[in-house]
Amino acid sequence: MKKTVRDIEVKGKRALVRCDFNVPLKDGVITDDIRIVSALPTIRYLMENGARVILMSHLGRPDGEPKKEFTLAPVAERLSRLLGTEVKFAGSDNVVDDKVREAASELKDGEVMLLENVRFRKEETKNGADFAKELAQLGDFFVNDAFGTAHRAHASTAGVADYLPAVSGFLIEKEVEFLGNAVENPKRPFVAIMGGAKVGDKIPVIENLLKKVDTLIIGGGMAYTFFKSQGLEIGTSILDKDNVELAAELLKKAEAAGVKMLLPVDCVCGKEFKNDTEYAVYSKDNIPADMMGLDIGPKTAELYRQAASDAATVVWNGPMGVFEMPNFAKGTKAVAEALAESDAVTIIGGGDSAAAVEQFGLADKMTHISTGGGASLEFLEGKTLPGIAVIEDK
Ligand code: ADP
Ligand code: MG
Repeated sequence: MKKTVRDIEVKGKRALVRCDFNVPLKDGVITDDIRIVSALPTIRYLMENGARVILMSHLGRPDGEPKKEFTLAPVAERLSRLLGTEVKFAGSDNVVDDKVREAASELKDGEVMLLENVRFRKEETKNGADFAKELAQLGDFFVNDAFGTAHRAHASTAGVADYLPAVSGFLIEKEVEFLGNAVENPKRPFVAIMGGAKVGDKIPVIENLLKKVDTLIIGGGMAYTFFKSQGLEIGTSILDKDNVELAAELLKKAEAAGVKMLLPVDCVCGKEFKNDTEYAVYSKDNIPADMMGLDIGPKTAELYRQAASDAATVVWNGPMGVFEMPNFAKGTKAVAEALAESDAVTIIGGGDSAAAVEQFGLADKMTHISTGGGASLEFLEGKTLPGIAVIEDK
């Protein structure tokens, strides 16, 4: 178990908090503030318990230089509005300088300030010790609450912990609880549902999950690489050529491990990769040579729905079809609905899967939707994430 802000005395102390305020901006205006809203519980907890809160984050890719379009000033404004109290913006191009140090030392209990974009400094992404030290000197302890960057060893995500005691905020606590503990020690039956475009991106995840799950369900574009490895005709479906043999090996590994591996039995195939193309349902061994599989078929959806509803824990990564096109969203929707109706612990990892669940209005029916794309994949691969490794154990 990792220590959280609840496990330390915060009153009168300066909390240096790494958040994920990497929000989308259009002409300097924040177009979606979900990441800021998600950070509020940790910030409020610290404020209410009398900490002096110093927030830091990156925004976009300024490549180690101060660039106006990547300033965190709009975030300070939005944060002030959401918290109903002024968040002081320490807008130094150097992130830390004498003025910033002074502002940090003048903070009173319960007050909040925000540093400028940490990626204005080259040393940030190189985890430069000097920059980490400069940041660390602003605080008495470090709180990591930026899950989306926890798989990176940067100065503000990991380096600062060389100089400060480190705990997690509530966002990382939840990710560790569900992606970590639920996957390591799941209630069974444990079912993983894997989809998305390419097998290649997900091989390490599949290999890791094969060691843990009772059933592994394959859908989405990656199914066709598995079909190819079984010698089936896949028409013009997306194919990960370099990984056909690996797909065959994964099928063998699953069998050897006693894991039930489910592949689609039917597919919705279209002539072209667009919504208003000619399309029809075909069984898996009947895919026409001039058509591409764009969704799992209705029989498969029913099969997967059943497998998901028999589970006690479900991890889902990757949509079942091209859910962005309404004609090919049905399979993904069926699986999302099965998870929403199920009593199982349901964990969604992966940016597009999360977007799909959101699109169907089922997000609040899931146990946990991971906020970090790359970070959640690395977690599911069983890797140690640097930004989590630095957090002290209880
Ligand atoms: P996640 O972000 O949840 O990890 P991925 O990024 O791996 O998921 O994959 C998502 C993409 O896979 C979506 O854009 C979706 O359109 C695409 N996809 C799903 N099924 C197919 C298919 N049969 N053919 C082509 N693309 C597909
Ligand atoms: Mg994706």
